[in-house]
Amino acid sequence: MKCDETRHYLYVYLDGEATILRRWRIRRHFRQCPHCEDGFVFEERLKLRVREGCREEMPRELVERLRTLLQGHADDGM
Ligand SMILES: [Zn+2]
Repeated sequence: MKCDETRHYLYVYLDGEATILRRWRIRRHFRQCPHCEDGFVFEERLKLRVREGCREEMPRELVERLRTLLQGHADDGM
């Protein structure tokens, strides 16, 4: 499995929707490629932090600022 393929399925893996075979192939790639494993650990921590953050009420001002920021990115074609 290649790096770009692994990164593509990383999010499927993180969402817990990857098949057993896919999980195995991703884990096997991690053993050969510490760079992808680092990326996975980072995304996993980020996901956990976002999940924890969602339990708290986000300040309205921050939500508005984020929305503006995201819309700005959308205009850039992202
Ligand atoms: Zn890789």
